[in-house]
Formats: sequence, C-alpha cells, structure tokens
Amino acid sequence: MKFHQMNWQQRLAAIDANTNLSTSEKALLNHNYSAINEQMIENYITSFSLPEGVLPNIIINDDAYQVPMVTEEPSVIAAASNGARMINMGGGVHTTNVSREMIGQVLINDADFSTIETLVTNQAAHLIDLGNAAHPSMAQRGGGLKRITTRDLGSGFVSVDLHIDTQAAMGANVVNTISEAVAGYFKAQQVGNVVMAILSNFATSSLVTAKVALPFKAIAKAGFEAADIAQRIVLANQFSQRDPYRATTENKGVMNGIDAVVMASGNDWRAISAGVHAYAARDGQYRNLVTWTCDDTTLYGEITVPMPVGIVGGSISIVPLVQTNHKLLNVDSASQLAQVIVAVGLAQNLSALRALVTSGIQAGHMQLQLKSLALAVGATIAEVPVLVTQLQQAAHADMQTARQLLTEMRE
Ligand code: NDP
Repeated sequence: MKFHQMNWQQRLAAIDANTNLSTSEKALLNHNYSAINEQMIENYITSFSLPEGVLPNIIINDDAYQVPMVTEEPSVIAAASNGARMINMGGGVHTTNVSREMIGQVLINDADFSTIETLVTNQAAHLIDLGNAAHPSMAQRGGGLKRITTRDLGSGFVSVDLHIDTQAAMGANVVNTISEAVAGYFKAQQVGNVVMAILSNFATSSLVTAKVALPFKAIAKAGFEAADIAQRIVLANQFSQRDPYRATTENKGVMNGIDAVVMASGNDWRAISAGVHAYAARDGQYRNLVTWTCDDTTLYGEITVPMPVGIVGGSISIVPLVQTNHKLLNVDSASQLAQVIVAVGLAQNLSALRALVTSGIQAGHMQLQLKSLALAVGATIAEVPVLVTQLQQAAHADMQTARQLLTEMRE
C-alpha cells in the first residue's frame, strides 16, 4: 500500500518501523492527533503547534484592537506591544486600503502581443462573462472578474491579467478557477501557446498603507535624547534604502509582526511573504518596506505593502482556534483585517529600530531568549525561573553556561 493510501494508524506504524520511535515519542504523535487537521492535508501524522499571544492594545483609525499573534520567536510579541504603546501615544496608526483585487494570469508564448491586446479589448465583455460563469457565486455577491489587461513580456511572451474582486476571501482558488476558464478561450482562439493559468501573489491591487506621526516624547528612553533617537531611526532606515543586506533584515523584522497575525488569522503566510518581498524589490532593488522621516518635533513612519488576506475561505472556516482569533480581532471585513496586520508590521519595525539605535537589539532580546535557552538545555518548567535568574547574572548567557549552571543546580 502506498503511504498516502494508509489510514492514520497505518502511517504511524510505517513511520515507527522506519524510525524506531520511543514510547514517549509515539505518545506525542498520538496526543497531538486532530481529526480536523487530518482532513486538511495529505499524509497527516500529527499536529504541530506554536505559541500564541496577544498584542493587547493598538489604536488603528481611532479604534482599539487586541491582536492575536502566533510565533515561536520570544521577543516578537513584546516588541510589537512596545511599538504599539509608543504609536498609541501619537494617536495610533492611520491606515488606508485603496483597492482589493487579486490578479490572475493567463500566460501565453509564441504570441503576437497586439493580436492578444486587440482580442482582449474587443472581447472584454464576453471574457468577463466567461470567467464569472466559472464561479458565479463570487459575481452574485458583487465580486468576480472585473477587468482584463495585457502585458508584453517580450520575445512573444504575454501575460493576460485578470483583475478579480474576491470579496471577503483571499481568493486563490476562486482566481485559479476563473483564470483557467479564460485560458480555455485563448486556447480555442489559437493565438499562441497557452502555457498556464494561475493567480499572481504579487498582489499590487491589494495595497494597504499605514502611517504614524509620533511626537518625540512617545519614543523617549531613559539615558537617550528623544530627538536623537528619532534622527538615528531615520538614519538606520536610510541604510535600508541603500543596502539590500540591511533592508532584508529590517523587512524580516516587519514580517515578524505581519506573519504572526497572518498565521493567527488562518491566512496563507507564504503567499503574503512572497508578495511583500516582491513589492520591496518593485523598482529593481530590494529596499525597506517602512520609511521613517522626522522634523523638529515629530517622527513619521509609513509602510505600503500588498495584503490580500481573507476572513473566509481556506482553513479560516475550518480551524476552531482561527475562529476564536477572529473573535479577538473583531474585524468585519478582509480589508479591515489587512489594515490591522500592516499596522502591527509598522509597530514591530518601530520597536526594533528604536532598540537598535539605542541600547542595541540584544539587551531586550536576550532577556526574552533566556527562557528558551533554559528549556533548550533541558530545564524543567520548575527549574526555568531559577536558571534564568542565574543566566541574567552570568558573564556569558550561552548554551554552555546554561548547561553548566543546570548541572550545578541539580547537584
Ligand atoms: P476558498 O477556496 O475556500 O474560497 C473561498 C470560499 O469562501 C468560497 O467557497 C466562497 O463561497 C466562500 N465565501 C463565503 N462568503 C464569502 C464572501 N463574502 N466573499 C468571498 N467568499 C466567500 O479559498 P480562497 O479562494 O480564498 O483560497 C485561499 C486558499 O488557497 C488558501 O488556503 C491558500 O493557501 C490556497 N492557495 C494559495 C495559492 C497561492 O497563494 N499561490 C495557490 C493555491 C491555493 P462560494 O464558493 O459560494 O463563492
């Protein structure tokens, strides 16, 4: 029997035969079984969980939100909460979501661009009807295929871009269904070689902008001049404008916040990451997503990224914890969720840059990493606080020291 044809018990037995699992390891796989999760993927053996915490208060467009975040990185939620605290002192985040459309691509080569362009112009209404007939419920709720454009990719390569309103869903499956239906038309017309039809994750029609204006007192820190902190944040940000090595790291920090909320909300974080990073390189050089500027009194931050998330569809309606998280988020629309996510990314970035240009990232970061370090060397839950206290006083809070202190503690 092939692995994917086995039932869950058979799959575990097959893995055990290959791996010689201990009794406690088998118990772990068993303990984390979920009937719902088994339905979601192929070759299911168990469920892998990550910690979830909450950013308790971020003000967005004058409303206060509590935001669930899923992450394994110790300092992420603390940093986001600290960023939000500073942002709230400046009146919160102001967000806009100008449009919310997904793009599906029909990709054709061996094609004459002007022939396809003319066909799309002349047949626009027919093509839109054809696409919407493939998933009529989306058009019935006011969404669906709205318009079609073409892009000449050179050397006979053409992209026919389908602009699709996916309403409250992220819409990948809906877009793919509509795109394949429209691709069928081009195949029948024999205007080139129709290679494939699929959505694009470069969701430039689902851009969200978030802005903050922070009086210097909001970013004050003992031992530092607030105006100096603001200027250094701007300078740090200018390095990311010039240097993709620094921009990648700054954007990773932004994604610490964005991905954590995307995951908690049951959305596809690979899709979001792909789109956001492509947007960071949209002018040919990879750059920072957030821009910081300041005048004599105020630090200004702004971020624009594609954020095509949904509040229905995919795993969102299936996973009970995701449903609970949507209740915590208290958002009514996909657009509102997208704005919360981008606001958290901005808060995350503020907190990281402020730490970097003042005491450095390690001071706060390592305090939070110490618990993970204690667990990594085998401390029990009861031993963790004692070991963390000892590590705080140690010259080097590294694994070797942690191991040694734990051994001494147990002697
Ligand atoms: P679904 O396939 O679940 O489609 C959305 C569902 O939500 C539809 O069944 C739709 O009903 C229903 N729905 C109910 N109310 C609404 C409403 N108000 N607005 C919109 N839809 C509503 O999910 P998506 O199409 O959103 O696809 C997301 C999934 O696709 C994710 O799991 C993602 O991982 C995956 N994916 C991602 C890809 C990528 O990013 N490249 C590629 C392929 C898949 P009805 O059917 O009646 O319209």
